[in-house]
Amino acid sequence: MGVIVQKYGGSSVADVECMRRVAQRILKTRDAGNQVVVVVSAMGDTTDDLIDLAKKINPEPNEREMDALMATGEQISSAILTMALHQLGADAVSLTGPQAGIFTDSVHTKAKIRALKPKRLLAQLKKNRVVVVAGFQGLNPEEDIATLGRGGSDTTAVALAAAIKADRCQILKDVEGVYTANPRVVPEAKKLDEIAYDEMLELASMGAEVLQSRAVEFAKNHNVVLEVMSSFVEKPGTLVREEVRNMEDIVVRGVASDKNQAKVTVRGLEDKPGVAGLMFTELARKSINVDMIVQNVSDKGETDITFTVPRGDLAKTVRTVEGMQSDLGAKDIVANEDIAKISIVGVGMRSHSGVAARMFEALAKHKINISMIATSEIKISVVIAKADADKAVQVLHRVFELGKKK
Ligand code: ASP
Ligand code: MG
Repeated sequence: MGVIVQKYGGSSVADVECMRRVAQRILKTRDAGNQVVVVVSAMGDTTDDLIDLAKKINPEPNEREMDALMATGEQISSAILTMALHQLGADAVSLTGPQAGIFTDSVHTKAKIRALKPKRLLAQLKKNRVVVVAGFQGLNPEEDIATLGRGGSDTTAVALAAAIKADRCQILKDVEGVYTANPRVVPEAKKLDEIAYDEMLELASMGAEVLQSRAVEFAKNHNVVLEVMSSFVEKPGTLVREEVRNMEDIVVRGVASDKNQAKVTVRGLEDKPGVAGLMFTELARKSINVDMIVQNVSDKGETDITFTVPRGDLAKTVRTVEGMQSDLGAKDIVANEDIAKISIVGVGMRSHSGVAARMFEALAKHKINISMIATSEIKISVVIAKADADKAVQVLHRVFELGKKK
């Protein structure tokens, strides 16, 4: 007998029909001899609707009240799903995040889980009940409800799986697993059987929209094996797990594109020590997450620095740099939103050479111009024009033969 944590995303519990189907799926897992803890997201677009509702009252709502509001989405779905289980004759109970013993830090709307005390949850499991936990929430040190950031139910599931030493944490979604590329862009994209935590982290931070990055980090740190699978069809999904030897045989595991970045160039900066430090310290102080940075070779005591930031932070970034223009000795600031970041990811890059050359060559052959490059041990990213993004993903998917049966 195993202990399984199953997390169902918003589109899997969008309406009454979905709820009934999910309840049946849960009972199938239980009847196969498992103890089951379920974590649910809010139904369908509930979270977005709640945010819209709040903004109608106040464009900048208080964050404590935002958390009080948003947490209700998951509370509704956990209670309704439990009722659906009762209707099928099953013994089940719902718990909110705080009732399940999830404790967070004080940062409203993006709280981090600090501690888990799942005593009550374990007692319910012992009584052979299915326990349905409201995802995305916990209790902060002020004993207020706090939410874990968008997509945070994934993290609830992984954290609970670690705390109760579950055998498996299944993330059930409206897709069948993690793909070599977005199947909407690349029709021949293939579902991966497995992927290493580090690869998944790179793809998650790329906006691959499969798992919340924090959930993957948590799974890696606590060695929780994740399985991303469909809630609609019953077949094996993608295992996200620790790296094993033969994973390096595959050079590139996937291609991702991120269209949510913007590029800022600060021109004519004084080329002297401390200028970059001054600018990036100020951006960091404003919680602006700078991603790629390139500094040009200096000419006549002047240099340019180009960097990327999330598009939502572009206005704030430009305002910040403009405010420092005279301190930096900068001539002008140019912003560009029409960019995309394209990345290829794979642990096999550690042991194979010439990967970057193949990538650049393929893009050049299709007349796609590269404006920035960044590499890590297992990832190569380039910034290109947004209009070329889909084509670049298709080209790279083909060149690295990701659509081929392995
Ligand atoms: N309902 C929250 C969201 O939409 C949390 C989640 O779905 O994981 O972001
Ligand atoms: Mg959601």
